[in-house]
Amino acid sequence: MSTLDSLALTCIPAQDEALRAEVRAFLAQATKEMPAHLRARSWGGYSTEFSRQLGARGWIGVTLPREYGGGGRSAFARYVLVEEFLNFGAPVGSHWIADRQSAPLILKYGTEAQKRFYIPRVCRGEAFFCIGMSEPNAGSDLASVATRAVPNAQGFLLNGQKIWTTNAHHCQYMIALVRTSGSAEDRQRGLSQVIVDLSLPGITVRPIEDLSGDSHFCEVFFDNVQLGLDALIGAEGQGWEQVTAELAFERSGPERLFSSIVLFDQWLDWVRTPAGRSEAAVLLAGKVLTQLAPLRAMSVAVQQRLAEGGSPIIEAALVKELGTTLEQFIPASIADALFAAESEDLPVELLMTLKYVTEASPSFSLRGGTRDILRGMIARGLGLR
Ligand SMILES: Cc1cc2nc3c(=O)[nH]c(=O)nc-3n(C[C@H](O)[C@H](O)[C@H](O)COP(=O)(O)OP(=O)(O)OC[C@H]3O[C@@H](n4cnc5c(N)ncnc54)[C@H](O)[C@@H]3O)c2cc1C
Repeated sequence: MSTLDSLALTCIPAQDEALRAEVRAFLAQATKEMPAHLRARSWGGYSTEFSRQLGARGWIGVTLPREYGGGGRSAFARYVLVEEFLNFGAPVGSHWIADRQSAPLILKYGTEAQKRFYIPRVCRGEAFFCIGMSEPNAGSDLASVATRAVPNAQGFLLNGQKIWTTNAHHCQYMIALVRTSGSAEDRQRGLSQVIVDLSLPGITVRPIEDLSGDSHFCEVFFDNVQLGLDALIGAEGQGWEQVTAELAFERSGPERLFSSIVLFDQWLDWVRTPAGRSEAAVLLAGKVLTQLAPLRAMSVAVQQRLAEGGSPIIEAALVKELGTTLEQFIPASIADALFAAESEDLPVELLMTLKYVTEASPSFSLRGGTRDILRGMIARGLGLR
């Protein structure tokens, strides 16, 4: 296959694009009282009430089959929704992971009973999931996962520790990558995924405070946690293949382009005023847009591959790596532009948003896989490693 084959332009189909107007009208109303520095949190923002409202409108699990409570629509319908959620800075963090990857994973690998139990509640905005992949010594090197679920008569006995688990303190469930056989030296072999009910005895969840003062990710400890037989998702020993496919969902969406979009829009509003306008600011706006437009086109093309049932792992890594670079460029260059102007009447709300996004931005190229690892994957995709 030619490299160019991966870069074909794709259009969002008209029937999915048509969803945008309705979503915009709802979000304009729902977020109108929220200040920009809170909206800038968006998929880090947490509101179970808001998730339930979206669930009631059929806007969670839009790609999942109707028989499990989903919308039965294409990946493009979800793309339009996600773009608008981020565009408005809607607080979608509570259902985000369940919608993006846990429910699709359960649909792909789960038993019929698991699908019927979990997916409808995800779609209603009632069941929330977190991802238990990283461990203190297994972040980028996931194959060295050491948390162990030992098969026994009742199911599996779980012991070990996860770290950086987003929203573990709020969620009912974790899908954890664990070792069900062999040792950490076996690398990819012997890994499985299990669904862990976080209310079980033996589980301790400890939130970690980040630079901005938020506590959204956690340490999670498992001390002789007894899981049932129905905890296993997919096949025992197939955890590595399953996790790799799941990461394409995690890395492919518009959230890897638009983490700084509320800040960018708010800054543009300021640049449109006589006080905020300067030649340098206009040049910067153009520079950001000329990067954003092709990246968005690439991101839409990845959705096409997902819509066809493919697993575009390398393409998703490419978009995430370039996308997070732009997401980090936006706050850094806006800060340079604002402070170089030496203006004394900068809008306070703009500065508050800039402060939050600046503090959060180092994490953009960490969460969901670090820059170095993604670059290695891209090199491998090009046959260079
Ligand atoms: C905001 C946020 C939310 C997160 N949420 C979750 C979550 O919900 N669930 C979850 O499981 N994890 C989560 N993570 C963890 C995240 O995915 C890990 O931080 C990431 O995988 C890196 O692992 P690490 O922190 O252990 O760093 P390490 O793996 O120790 O890496 C440290 C540095 O070394 C580099 N490095 C490591 N190995 C190599 C190599 N082979 N070649 C070149 N360079 C290398 C890395 O790129 C990095 O720069 C989250 C992280 C953040 C910041």
